[in-house]
Amino acid sequence: MKEMDRKRRNKEDITPISKTREWKLLYYEHGRPGLEDSSEYRGLCRHCELCATCTLPKSEGGVWHCKYYIAGAKKTSFYENVLKQLEKAEDVVHFDRDICKILAATMNEFVVHFPVKMDDGGLKVMTGYRIQHNNALGPYKGGLRFHPSVDIDEVRALATLMTWKSAITNIPFGGAKGGIQLDPADFSSNEMERIARRFTFALGNNIGPEYDIPAPDVNTNPQIMAWILDTYLSTVTPNERNRCLHVVTGKPIESGGSKGRNKATGQGVVFLIDKWANDHGFNLKGATYIVQGFGNVGSWTSRLMKEKGSKLIAVEDVTGTIFNSEGIDPDDLANYVKNHGGVLDYPNAKPIDHETFFSTKADIFIPAALENQITAETAPLLNVKLVAEGANSPTDLNGDIILQRKKIDVIPDILCNSGGVIVSYFEWLQNKRSEFWELDEVDNKLHKKIINAYEKVHDTAEKFRVDWRTAAQVVAISRLESVYKERGIFP
Ligand code: NAD
Repeated sequence: MKEMDRKRRNKEDITPISKTREWKLLYYEHGRPGLEDSSEYRGLCRHCELCATCTLPKSEGGVWHCKYYIAGAKKTSFYENVLKQLEKAEDVVHFDRDICKILAATMNEFVVHFPVKMDDGGLKVMTGYRIQHNNALGPYKGGLRFHPSVDIDEVRALATLMTWKSAITNIPFGGAKGGIQLDPADFSSNEMERIARRFTFALGNNIGPEYDIPAPDVNTNPQIMAWILDTYLSTVTPNERNRCLHVVTGKPIESGGSKGRNKATGQGVVFLIDKWANDHGFNLKGATYIVQGFGNVGSWTSRLMKEKGSKLIAVEDVTGTIFNSEGIDPDDLANYVKNHGGVLDYPNAKPIDHETFFSTKADIFIPAALENQITAETAPLLNVKLVAEGANSPTDLNGDIILQRKKIDVIPDILCNSGGVIVSYFEWLQNKRSEFWELDEVDNKLHKKIINAYEKVHDTAEKFRVDWRTAAQVVAISRLESVYKERGIFP
């Protein structure tokens, strides 16, 4: 069956170069004589490296290259990037094409328009999104983002990544994401509360503790989760209320949140960096790192890296970019950001520009802001050994090819920032069981789960001789494929 699928796919997508060398057909859009026997080029995107250095004549319609090579081509959208990564994994393992078709689509998409009263007595009609990508493994799960860049494409992409994340970490959740296109700087705290509450009300029963469970993401926080919880509880009957605490995770601890959830994503990033360092005989004490984004993920990762003895030397956020070769104290900076809203004008560092930030020589780069930051323009500037992706999809396809070419290790997003959803799962479990776990219990369980996922990705990368991003994707899709195969498709 797989063989048939593969042939069908080849016929559709790829011009064959040799009937006897089937493996090649998977990798090339255009045949090129002379390289078929070279195992050096066996693998996805090897040709992209070749394209950059190739001295052989180009074919008439342009260069010939692996189908994932897109440098110089139009910029792909965030969602297209995510789907391309799925395709890449599909080609490595030859997953069932029909199951991949299911996974390439979102299951439900809600777009809600709702009115919100402003402080000045006026009214604004806002637009919110909730996209449920897949629930084969359990209830839909994923954060809510309030940001000017939020649109349906972005939310689809983020929802899809959530499915992979739950699958890779072996937790019983599916994937979803939501958001509202807004700039929080334009609204007072009271207005933000009314926006969060009206959005929750507009979503109605399309979220729920056993159905779809939101959590914090960019510009949303435990306070916003508490408002969402309170609004949701107000819409269910009184005798159900205490059974619905787990409708959101990332709540304040007093409102049913879990110890360790606030730092969980950063904690997971640091557990993985530590594991990578151990595996590579690299000493984190005295190592240097730079961080993009100093919100929840960036600041917690930085503060926990400090405990490892590593030195933060440059930070970029939406307000500015700062550098100090002697080191920036993450706790002091976190305090400053709390009071000033960003890193701009932080007194114990000097301002630098965006390009200088990306060119800063350091051991580790932790992107912890938005998607598509490591690109064809910025990846060539990077001078680091490891990129640990705290953010979702910070690297676009071009950026990824360049990182591989530069032999920079990457702990990919769906593994690297999965600490958040893992501890969200722990919070959900504690709420369901009316339990409160101590911090060391949460941390130990997080460590076990995330290192287990790391090892699976490591072994898969070795087995298929692929990069870690593809390997992570393969681990996730394998789990989903097994579930679909076991259950079949109704009817
Ligand atoms: P946050 O709102 O707490 O912080 C976002 C940070 O990014 C801020 O410091 C902001 O100034 C900065 N930023 C925004 N635009 C920027 C730009 N153009 N250039 C540089 N910096 C910019 O958000 P967060 O929760 O820390 O999320 C950060 C990333 O981590 C996102 O990609 C999010 O999806 C991902 N993530 C978050 C969690 C979580 O638990 N919060 C879990 C997994 C993944």
